[in-house]
Amino acid sequence: MQQPSLPNAPFAPLRRINGRMAGGVLFLCDHASPALPQAYGDLGLTPEHFTRHIAYDIGAAALTEALAARFEAPALLTTFSRLLIDPNRGSDDPTLVMRISDRALIPGNARIDEAEVAERKVRYWQPYRDAIDETTRTMKAAGCVPALISIHSFTPIWRGSPRKWQAAVLWDCDDRLAKPLLQGLRASGIETGDNEPYDGALRGDTMFDHGTLPGLPHILIEIRQDLIADAAGVAEWAAHLAPLLQQALAAPGVQEIKHYPSRAADAATLARLRETQK
Ligand SMILES: [Zn+2]
Repeated sequence: MQQPSLPNAPFAPLRRINGRMAGGVLFLCDHASPALPQAYGDLGLTPEHFTRHIAYDIGAAALTEALAARFEAPALLTTFSRLLIDPNRGSDDPTLVMRISDRALIPGNARIDEAEVAERKVRYWQPYRDAIDETTRTMKAAGCVPALISIHSFTPIWRGSPRKWQAAVLWDCDDRLAKPLLQGLRASGIETGDNEPYDGALRGDTMFDHGTLPGLPHILIEIRQDLIADAAGVAEWAAHLAPLLQQALAAPGVQEIKHYPSRAADAATLARLRETQK
Protein backbone atom coordinates (compact mmCIF):
# COMPACT_ATOMS: atom_id res chain seq x y z
CA MET A 1 0.00 0.00 0.00
CA GLN A 2 1.14 3.53 -0.80
CA GLN A 3 2.36 5.32 2.30
CA PRO A 4 1.75 9.08 2.49
CA SER A 5 4.77 11.36 2.67
CA LEU A 6 3.45 13.11 5.78
CA PRO A 7 4.93 11.90 9.05
CA ASN A 8 2.52 9.68 10.95
CA ALA A 9 0.43 11.61 13.43
CA PRO A 10 0.55 9.99 16.87
CA PHE A 11 -2.44 7.69 17.28
CA ALA A 12 -3.54 6.39 20.67
CA PRO A 13 -5.06 2.94 20.16
CA LEU A 14 -7.49 3.21 23.04
CA ARG A 15 -9.53 5.56 25.14
CA ARG A 16 -10.00 5.20 28.89
CA ILE A 17 -12.93 6.35 30.94
CA ASN A 18 -12.00 6.67 34.59
CA GLY A 19 -14.21 5.15 37.24
CA ARG A 20 -14.30 3.42 40.58
CA MET A 21 -11.57 0.78 40.60
CA ALA A 22 -13.12 -0.98 43.60
CA GLY A 23 -16.58 -0.92 42.03
CA GLY A 24 -16.30 -4.38 40.49
CA VAL A 25 -17.35 -3.47 36.93
CA LEU A 26 -15.25 -2.79 33.84
CA PHE A 27 -16.95 -1.91 30.57
CA LEU A 28 -15.25 -2.78 27.30
CA CYS A 29 -15.97 -1.67 23.76
CA ASP A 30 -13.94 -3.60 21.18
CA HIS A 31 -15.53 -2.06 18.11
CA ALA A 32 -16.02 1.51 19.27
CA SER A 33 -14.65 3.50 16.33
CA PRO A 34 -14.48 3.51 12.52
CA ALA A 35 -11.26 5.61 12.58
CA LEU A 36 -7.97 4.66 10.96
CA PRO A 37 -4.51 5.97 11.74
CA GLN A 38 -3.48 8.50 9.08
CA ALA A 39 -0.87 6.24 7.49
CA TYR A 40 -3.55 3.77 6.41
CA GLY A 41 -5.61 6.32 4.51
CA ASP A 42 -8.96 4.69 3.81
CA LEU A 43 -7.64 1.15 3.15
CA GLY A 44 -8.87 1.68 -0.40
CA LEU A 45 -12.52 1.86 0.66
CA THR A 46 -15.10 4.55 -0.09
CA PRO A 47 -16.42 6.76 2.76
CA GLU A 48 -19.73 4.84 2.86
CA HIS A 49 -17.94 1.77 4.16
CA PHE A 50 -16.92 3.69 7.26
CA THR A 51 -20.54 4.40 8.16
CA ARG A 52 -21.36 0.68 8.05
CA HIS A 53 -21.20 -2.15 10.54
CA ILE A 54 -18.13 -3.60 8.82
CA ALA A 55 -16.03 -0.68 10.13
CA TYR A 56 -17.37 -0.53 13.72
CA ASP A 57 -20.32 -1.26 16.00
CA ILE A 58 -22.73 1.62 15.49
CA GLY A 59 -23.96 3.05 18.80
CA ALA A 60 -21.77 0.79 20.96
CA ALA A 61 -19.33 3.49 22.11
CA ALA A 62 -22.13 5.83 23.18
CA LEU A 63 -23.90 3.03 25.03
CA THR A 64 -20.65 2.04 26.76
CA GLU A 65 -20.13 5.66 27.86
CA ALA A 66 -23.70 5.93 29.14
CA LEU A 67 -23.45 2.69 31.13
CA ALA A 68 -20.02 3.56 32.52
CA ALA A 69 -21.45 6.89 33.71
CA ARG A 70 -24.40 5.20 35.41
CA PHE A 71 -22.13 2.72 37.21
CA GLU A 72 -19.31 5.24 37.75
CA ALA A 73 -17.25 2.41 36.30
CA PRO A 74 -14.04 2.48 34.28
CA ALA A 75 -14.27 1.66 30.58
CA LEU A 76 -11.82 0.89 27.80
CA LEU A 77 -12.72 1.66 24.19
CA THR A 78 -10.64 1.10 21.08
CA THR A 79 -10.06 4.07 18.77
CA PHE A 80 -9.41 2.18 15.53
CA SER A 81 -11.62 0.36 13.08
CA ARG A 82 -11.92 -3.40 13.19
CA LEU A 83 -11.02 -3.19 9.49
CA LEU A 84 -7.45 -2.36 10.54
CA ILE A 85 -7.24 -5.27 12.98
CA ASP A 86 -9.99 -6.87 15.04
CA PRO A 87 -9.44 -6.44 18.80
CA ASN A 88 -12.03 -9.15 19.42
CA ARG A 89 -10.07 -11.92 17.68
CA GLY A 90 -7.31 -14.09 19.04
CA SER A 91 -3.75 -13.09 18.19
CA ASP A 92 -3.43 -16.08 15.82
CA ASP A 93 -6.98 -16.00 14.46
CA PRO A 94 -7.05 -16.06 10.63
CA THR A 95 -9.76 -13.35 10.64
CA LEU A 96 -7.65 -10.95 12.74
CA VAL A 97 -7.20 -8.79 9.65
CA MET A 98 -10.15 -9.23 7.30
CA ARG A 99 -9.53 -9.33 3.55
CA ILE A 100 -13.26 -9.34 2.84
CA SER A 101 -16.09 -8.26 5.15
CA ASP A 102 -19.82 -8.67 4.40
CA ARG A 103 -18.93 -9.03 0.70
CA ALA A 104 -16.80 -5.86 0.61
CA LEU A 105 -13.22 -6.45 -0.50
CA ILE A 106 -10.79 -4.41 1.60
CA PRO A 107 -8.05 -3.38 -0.87
CA GLY A 108 -5.65 -2.13 1.84
CA ASN A 109 -5.72 -5.58 3.47
CA ALA A 110 -5.80 -7.79 0.40
CA ARG A 111 -2.06 -8.23 -0.05
CA ILE A 112 -0.54 -7.54 3.33
CA ASP A 113 2.16 -9.86 4.62
CA GLU A 114 2.81 -11.35 8.04
CA ALA A 115 5.12 -8.48 8.98
CA GLU A 116 2.32 -5.96 8.44
CA VAL A 117 -0.12 -8.05 10.49
CA ALA A 118 2.51 -8.24 13.26
CA GLU A 119 3.01 -4.46 13.08
CA ARG A 120 -0.72 -3.79 13.49
CA LYS A 121 -0.86 -6.29 16.32
CA VAL A 122 1.92 -4.55 18.25
CA ARG A 123 0.67 -1.02 17.63
CA TYR A 124 -3.11 -1.42 18.03
CA TRP A 125 -4.31 -4.86 19.16
CA GLN A 126 -1.79 -5.46 21.96
CA PRO A 127 -2.05 -2.08 23.74
CA TYR A 128 -5.83 -2.55 24.08
CA ARG A 129 -5.46 -6.10 25.39
CA ASP A 130 -2.65 -4.97 27.74
CA ALA A 131 -4.86 -2.15 29.04
CA ILE A 132 -7.56 -4.70 29.93
CA ASP A 133 -5.00 -6.79 31.86
CA GLU A 134 -3.56 -3.78 33.59
CA THR A 135 -6.98 -2.40 34.56
CA THR A 136 -8.27 -5.72 35.91
CA ARG A 137 -5.04 -6.06 37.92
CA THR A 138 -5.51 -2.60 39.39
CA MET A 139 -9.13 -3.40 40.20
CA LYS A 140 -8.15 -6.63 41.93
CA ALA A 141 -5.55 -4.73 43.92
CA ALA A 142 -8.32 -2.32 44.93
CA GLY A 143 -10.11 -5.26 46.50
CA CYS A 144 -12.72 -6.40 43.98
CA VAL A 145 -13.20 -9.13 41.41
CA PRO A 146 -13.88 -7.12 38.26
CA ALA A 147 -16.80 -8.23 36.09
CA LEU A 148 -16.20 -7.56 32.40
CA ILE A 149 -19.12 -6.21 30.43
CA SER A 150 -18.44 -6.04 26.73
CA ILE A 151 -20.75 -3.88 24.61
CA HIS A 152 -21.32 -4.59 20.91
CA SER A 153 -24.00 -3.96 18.29
CA PHE A 154 -25.12 -6.05 15.34
CA THR A 155 -26.53 -5.12 11.95
CA PRO A 156 -30.33 -5.44 11.58
CA ILE A 157 -29.99 -7.02 8.13
CA TRP A 158 -27.49 -9.74 7.40
CA ARG A 159 -27.06 -11.02 3.82
CA GLY A 160 -30.49 -9.71 2.89
CA SER A 161 -32.42 -11.16 5.84
CA PRO A 162 -33.78 -9.04 8.68
CA ARG A 163 -32.86 -10.18 12.19
CA LYS A 164 -35.62 -10.57 14.75
CA TRP A 165 -33.57 -9.98 17.88
CA GLN A 166 -33.36 -6.60 19.60
CA ALA A 167 -30.52 -7.69 21.84
CA ALA A 168 -28.30 -10.69 22.38
CA VAL A 169 -26.38 -12.24 25.23
CA LEU A 170 -23.23 -14.05 24.13
CA TRP A 171 -21.44 -16.38 26.48
CA ASP A 172 -19.32 -19.51 26.65
CA CYS A 173 -19.70 -21.61 29.86
CA ASP A 174 -19.56 -19.03 32.64
CA ASP A 175 -23.28 -18.44 33.15
CA ARG A 176 -23.00 -16.19 36.20
CA LEU A 177 -23.99 -13.01 34.37
CA ALA A 178 -25.46 -14.58 31.23
CA LYS A 179 -28.35 -16.44 32.87
CA PRO A 180 -29.78 -13.60 34.98
CA LEU A 181 -29.27 -11.05 32.23
CA LEU A 182 -30.94 -13.20 29.61
CA GLN A 183 -33.82 -13.84 31.95
CA GLY A 184 -34.13 -10.16 32.85
CA LEU A 185 -34.09 -8.99 29.25
CA ARG A 186 -36.67 -11.54 28.13
CA ALA A 187 -38.91 -10.85 31.14
CA SER A 188 -38.88 -7.17 30.21
CA GLY A 189 -40.19 -7.97 26.75
CA ILE A 190 -36.95 -7.68 24.79
CA GLU A 191 -36.53 -10.21 21.98
CA THR A 192 -33.13 -11.52 23.10
CA GLY A 193 -30.83 -13.96 21.36
CA ASP A 194 -29.11 -16.57 23.52
CA ASN A 195 -25.78 -17.00 21.73
CA GLU A 196 -27.56 -15.79 18.61
CA PRO A 197 -26.89 -14.27 16.10
CA TYR A 198 -23.32 -15.16 17.20
CA ASP A 199 -21.91 -17.77 19.50
CA GLY A 200 -20.00 -16.39 22.49
CA ALA A 201 -17.53 -19.30 22.54
CA LEU A 202 -14.54 -18.17 20.51
CA ARG A 203 -11.00 -19.05 21.45
CA GLY A 204 -8.80 -15.98 21.78
CA ASP A 205 -11.55 -13.37 21.66
CA THR A 206 -11.67 -10.65 24.32
CA MET A 207 -14.04 -12.50 26.64
CA PHE A 208 -12.08 -15.76 26.28
CA ASP A 209 -8.66 -14.24 27.00
CA HIS A 210 -9.70 -11.80 29.73
CA GLY A 211 -12.77 -13.51 31.23
CA THR A 212 -12.65 -17.28 30.72
CA LEU A 213 -8.90 -17.77 31.18
CA PRO A 214 -8.45 -15.76 34.41
CA GLY A 215 -11.89 -16.82 35.75
CA LEU A 216 -13.43 -13.35 35.88
CA PRO A 217 -17.22 -13.02 35.53
CA HIS A 218 -18.00 -11.66 32.08
CA ILE A 219 -20.70 -11.10 29.51
CA LEU A 220 -20.93 -9.85 25.96
CA ILE A 221 -24.07 -7.85 25.18
CA GLU A 222 -25.12 -7.05 21.63
CA ILE A 223 -27.81 -4.50 20.79
CA ARG A 224 -29.29 -4.25 17.31
CA GLN A 225 -27.62 -1.18 15.90
CA ASP A 226 -30.72 0.64 14.63
CA LEU A 227 -31.99 0.75 18.22
CA ILE A 228 -28.94 2.66 19.51
CA ALA A 229 -28.09 4.71 16.40
CA ASP A 230 -29.11 8.00 18.04
CA ALA A 231 -28.80 9.65 21.46
CA ALA A 232 -32.41 8.89 22.43
CA GLY A 233 -31.96 5.19 21.68
CA VAL A 234 -28.72 5.06 23.63
CA ALA A 235 -30.31 6.76 26.66
CA GLU A 236 -33.30 4.42 26.52
CA TRP A 237 -31.13 1.27 26.36
CA ALA A 238 -28.73 2.45 29.05
CA ALA A 239 -31.72 3.08 31.34
CA HIS A 240 -33.15 -0.34 30.51
CA LEU A 241 -29.92 -2.30 30.83
CA ALA A 242 -28.51 -0.69 33.99
CA PRO A 243 -30.93 -2.17 36.54
CA LEU A 244 -30.82 -5.57 34.82
CA LEU A 245 -27.03 -5.53 34.95
CA GLN A 246 -27.11 -4.34 38.55
CA GLN A 247 -29.30 -7.29 39.43
CA ALA A 248 -27.10 -9.78 37.54
CA LEU A 249 -23.97 -8.41 39.23
CA ALA A 250 -25.53 -8.86 42.66
CA ALA A 251 -26.15 -12.59 42.11
CA PRO A 252 -24.28 -15.01 44.37
CA GLY A 253 -20.94 -16.20 42.99
CA VAL A 254 -20.31 -13.13 40.82
CA GLN A 255 -17.85 -11.53 43.22
CA GLU A 256 -15.33 -14.34 42.96
CA ILE A 257 -12.75 -15.79 40.62
CA LYS A 258 -14.06 -19.06 39.27
CA HIS A 259 -12.71 -21.20 36.45
CA TYR A 260 -15.25 -22.62 34.04
CA PRO A 261 -14.67 -24.98 31.13
CA SER A 262 -14.95 -23.61 27.59
CA ARG A 263 -16.77 -24.80 24.49
CA ALA A 264 -13.92 -23.23 22.50
CA ALA A 265 -11.03 -25.23 23.97
CA ASP A 266 -10.63 -28.73 25.43
CA ALA A 267 -9.63 -29.12 29.07
CA ALA A 268 -5.93 -29.74 28.36
CA THR A 269 -5.65 -26.71 26.06
CA LEU A 270 -7.50 -24.55 28.55
CA ALA A 271 -5.20 -25.65 31.39
CA ARG A 272 -2.14 -24.90 29.25
CA LEU A 273 -3.44 -21.46 28.26
CA ARG A 274 -4.27 -20.64 31.88
CA GLU A 275 -0.78 -21.69 32.93
CA THR A 276 0.91 -19.50 30.29
CA GLN A 277 -1.27 -16.51 31.18
CA LYS A 278 -0.16 -16.51 34.84
ZN1 LIG B 1 -18.69 -5.95 17.73
